[in-house]
This record gives sequence, C-alpha cells and structure tokens, in this order.
Amino acid sequence: MGTEDKAPRPPVRMCVRCQVTTENPVVVSVVHQNSGPGFVVYACGPCAAHYPPQPDVLTVLPQSRRAGDER
Ligand SMILES: [Zn+2]
Repeated sequence: MGTEDKAPRPPVRMCVRCQVTTENPVVVSVVHQNSGPGFVVYACGPCAAHYPPQPDVLTVLPQSRRAGDER
C-alpha cells in the first residue's frame, strides 16, 4: 500500500508517423488551439528527420536589426 507504480517513467511518446512508441521523442509540431492548451506532436528520431525543423518564434524574427549593422 502506498508503494504503487510511483517511479518516474521515461517520457514515452508515440510517433505520429510510424505509430511506434519511442523513448526519445522529438517534437515535430505544436498544435495551438483557440481554447485550452494545445498539444505537442512527437515523432521518433528516424521519422523526425522527415519533418522540417520546427520554426522557433525566437528565430523567425525579422533580422533587420543585426549586430554590426550600426556604425
Ligand atoms: Zn517514427
């Protein structure tokens, strides 16, 4: 009693492409919903290579102000 399955389990996710559970999930997409939290789509390593790199909001900012542009 009290010693049930409380051990931390590895983050096992199911690949969205091959439907196989993987212990090394790679985030390939994040779905944002209008209401409530969105969900993350995972893929296994090999399948993740087939997905384009997830654009990061911090990296897709306009680069009009790059260091060195000033004098
Ligand atoms: Zn896969």
